[in-house]
Amino acid sequence: MKKYAGSIFMLIVFETIAITLWLSKGNLFYLFNFSYIGCSISLGLFLYAKKVKHARSVVQFLVGMYMLLYLGLMSNENMQIEGFWYYLFTGVFEAATIHYAVAKIFGPLIFGRGWCGYACWTAMILDLLPFKVPQNPRKEKIGVIRYVMFALSLIFVGSLFLLQVGNLERIMFFSFLIGNILYYLVGIGLAFLLKDNRAFCKYICPITVFLKPMSYFSLMRVKVDKDQCIGCNKCRHVCPMNVDMTDNSRKRENGTECILCFECVESCPKKALKI
Ligand code: SF4
Ligand code: SF4
Ligand code: SF4
Repeated sequence: MKKYAGSIFMLIVFETIAITLWLSKGNLFYLFNFSYIGCSISLGLFLYAKKVKHARSVVQFLVGMYMLLYLGLMSNENMQIEGFWYYLFTGVFEAATIHYAVAKIFGPLIFGRGWCGYACWTAMILDLLPFKVPQNPRKEKIGVIRYVMFALSLIFVGSLFLLQVGNLERIMFFSFLIGNILYYLVGIGLAFLLKDNRAFCKYICPITVFLKPMSYFSLMRVKVDKDQCIGCNKCRHVCPMNVDMTDNSRKRENGTECILCFECVESCPKKALKI
């Protein structure tokens, strides 16, 4: 049973959120929404424990497509960062605000950047590209772009409210549509340019402004058993996010970049890495 602990744990976490929100908000949608996401993640972890190939991709598509197609395009919920600002300014603690609170602000205290590894619809496509292992060193300086993107999204939505622009719901829908197309184009272009599938995540994505500081304190993180480690560095060579998982401290190199993909855990010949 021990190997299924992660799967059971995530199911319990999401069912707790689903039932709490359903009862406190009196809205059955939350029960369905968070149960679906929890079951998808739990299924992925179960398949991973069973050593099924592409288990993580299964979750990425189950959750990513649900969010992109059903919530985003069919239900007109802008789940991008501008949608978060929009609902925040309207004072409505619903959909996008709850989504951000759970997946990107407070949830990372428990499951780190699990969102980035298992649920993000942008990364769902980026992870299919040919550069799973980055082929160039990181370019830390351009990471400042994420803060520019963060500020621009806030200024964009803030201006709509200040200028009292009408038909905001429609604008939010089209910004979701256009924003996603741009994210895919930039993400794919950058992956080929820098030979790194996750270049967009490392330098451009504004959501990391929330994700990185919160995941610093994450309960779930890869740890090394120093007694078993032989220092072969195989783990570091396969990491898509350039994390130094052979250092157990919170301050390890790129520690807040870990997306819990378990590639390092799988590559270790000594089974020295564990969550
Ligand atoms: S960093 Fe941004 S684009 Fe990348 S997986 Fe996380 S949320 Fe998605
Ligand atoms: S390879 Fe290991 S350290 Fe790197 S992102 Fe995946 S789980 Fe995290
Ligand atoms: S792959 Fe395993 S043994 Fe090799 S450095 Fe990493 S943790 Fe140590």
